[in-house]
Amino acid sequence: PLVLGIESTCDETAAALVQGNRLLSNVVASSMNEHARYGGVIPEIASRAHAESFVPVVSKALKDVDMDLSQVDAIAVSAGPGLAGCLAVGVSGAKALAWAAKKPLYGINHVIGHIAVTQLQFGPFPQNALALIVSGGHTSLLHVDDLARSVQVVGTTLDDAAGECFDKIARLLGFPYPGGPHIDRHARLGDPHAIAVPQGLTKGRAGAEHPYDFSFSGVKTAVARWVERRQQAGLDIPVDDVCASLADSVATVLSRKAMAACHRFDTDTLIVGGGFSANSQLRGKLEELGDQEGVKVRIPKINLCTDNGAMVAMLGVNLVQAGLPPSAPDFSIDSAMPMDRILM
Ligand code: ATP
Ligand code: MG
Ligand code: FE
Repeated sequence: PLVLGIESTCDETAAALVQGNRLLSNVVASSMNEHARYGGVIPEIASRAHAESFVPVVSKALKDVDMDLSQVDAIAVSAGPGLAGCLAVGVSGAKALAWAAKKPLYGINHVIGHIAVTQLQFGPFPQNALALIVSGGHTSLLHVDDLARSVQVVGTTLDDAAGECFDKIARLLGFPYPGGPHIDRHARLGDPHAIAVPQGLTKGRAGAEHPYDFSFSGVKTAVARWVERRQQAGLDIPVDDVCASLADSVATVLSRKAMAACHRFDTDTLIVGGGFSANSQLRGKLEELGDQEGVKVRIPKINLCTDNGAMVAMLGVNLVQAGLPPSAPDFSIDSAMPMDRILM
């Protein structure tokens, strides 16, 4: 099937066409620059930007391959989780298109889209797969029986997401929003063992009962305290070392727990997705551990890691192929859509 995917959960307005597991077009407009000076995404500004970009972005995705809406089999749109005002713009726009063109519309889970997108690069999911989702808002391990019908949360962060932790430290170090990529860049130049950073939840609650949960607020606090103490003492901050130590701690715990979960669920394939999977320290650690432990790691190329329409269209293709009925005409957005709900 040929599916148009539409994304507007946060600060990217995006549309893409996917046929089978082939990406035909992929258009992304971002309002990121408009938020930079506030140090975070301002929902009102993001919603307005979606309203402005929606028609141009969708038009371009179709025009890039000389198609019109009558040729698509279905439309998919992110129905959640995300910023309510942003979701409302994308979902309303998609409903209007679906109604006018008489196409089935699927309101999908954006976070599941982050792992679905790997199929464009690596082909269909294996029968029994484990997925690590790491983004600005989520850090979870999922067991995937059937991407269209059944995913279970195996572990999740008890506080901050990995991306959120990076963004907060980045802010303290004076980098513009989003700070994750800046930490990544500086981390490549520093010593990962320069500063002792705790590893999120290797003990405590993660012990016996919840071995695959994460916690990054302690990591964030430890790094913040260290930086603040140096500042108060009038010492300069070895930015590269701070970034390298932070990145090493976060990447290590993510990759170790992901591998442990693969063994526990007896799977040889780990699917990785979400904006933070662009992180080079995490990519490096996962490849290294995957090689050591015989786990094939599927990490999408960078432009498919961050928010895009291809992830939405790809999951839409899976739903159509599974023969699932589209969302009801009056389906709602869900800004806190739970991760085990794939379709509204
Ligand atoms: P969610 O998908 O949970 O709704 P989101 O859509 O806001 O959240 P994404 O766009 O998937 O999040 O990812 C954005 C996050 O990824 C930000 O926190 C950003 O700092 C982080 N990020 C992007 N590139 C890198 C990188 N190279 N290193 C570290 N973090 C990165
Ligand atoms: Mg974004
Ligand atoms: Fe996302």
